[in-house]
Amino acid sequence: MENLDWGKLGFGYIKTDYNVRCYFRDGKWGEIEACSSEEISIHMAATCLHYGQDAFEGLKVFRGKNGDIRVFRWEENAKRLISSAQGILMAEPPLELFLEMLERVVNLNERFIPPYGMGASLYVRPLLIGTGAQVGVNPAKEYLLILFVTPVGPYFKEGFKNVRMQIVRDVDRAAPLGTGRYKVGGNYAASLSSVVRGHDEGFGSVLYLDAKEKKYIDEAGPANFFGIKNNTYVTPDSTSILPSITNMSLRQLAQDMGLKVEQRHVPEEELSTFEEVGACGTAAVITPISEIVDRETGHSFKYAAEPGPICTKLYKQLQGIQYGEVEDTHGWVHIIK
Ligand SMILES: *Cc1c(COP(=O)(O)O)cnc(C)c1O
Repeated sequence: MENLDWGKLGFGYIKTDYNVRCYFRDGKWGEIEACSSEEISIHMAATCLHYGQDAFEGLKVFRGKNGDIRVFRWEENAKRLISSAQGILMAEPPLELFLEMLERVVNLNERFIPPYGMGASLYVRPLLIGTGAQVGVNPAKEYLLILFVTPVGPYFKEGFKNVRMQIVRDVDRAAPLGTGRYKVGGNYAASLSSVVRGHDEGFGSVLYLDAKEKKYIDEAGPANFFGIKNNTYVTPDSTSILPSITNMSLRQLAQDMGLKVEQRHVPEEELSTFEEVGACGTAAVITPISEIVDRETGHSFKYAAEPGPICTKLYKQLQGIQYGEVEDTHGWVHIIK
């Protein structure tokens, strides 16, 4: 792309050439359509607008060191989209359809894949919505799966850098047996007020506690939580956490590096015992945390101001696999031709 300043890319939306769409009608998925319009036209009684039939995904495509086009763990995203669809009764897009749409949208927008070496990537946003009209509370009969892309820079303009997090108790993102484990828009709606307030109060993000007992760390607004201590990677186990593919990958890499991995309840008090803590997700990979403040009790847990050695090693290893600098021993990267 001649007039894009790759080095200055943030994490925002930039218009690309095409998006790809596929409708589910009359009980089956139709043909994939490439579309240059950024707009969609749907019925005003579509279920996505009234009853929250809306799920999404987020994954990244990288320009590798040797110039190839690399997608990270797309199959996990496709499987999670199917799980979200099952969770809120939407039509399930088959894995092959997801892959075909992914390859098509990436190829059609190849000129927007940032060059190797800028810390940037092409972010892919799959979106599945109920487009069929229903006035009574019922799942739609028609669905739209759309994949669009936008080039993104490193999540933190300053680079890999520690942030402060705030524990909130007056808002729950998701109920224990609610939709927290599905990547649905409603969870984000539920988190917006506390996330925006957290930003206004000077925090990078907020951490939610389990909604039932208010004792255990659940996750951050858009990212999972983990802590490191005694050569162990610890991450919360909970029915209301979104199963992060980054977290799944970090657990494997931690194990590869000889760390123990524990997925279990993490009581808030345990925060004082971690050597390093961080949040993880596709956007930033790892966001190391320098301080966690409980908004209600005022209690503060302090950590180093700079990324710790294990967070740094995990971050470099994961990014190295994504960019093709390190051997992809787990077969996580799919090359798009
Ligand atoms: C998407 C998301 C994550 C991160 O998942 P990744 O697959 O690692 O990108 C974590 N928490 C929530 C609530 C999310 O929506």
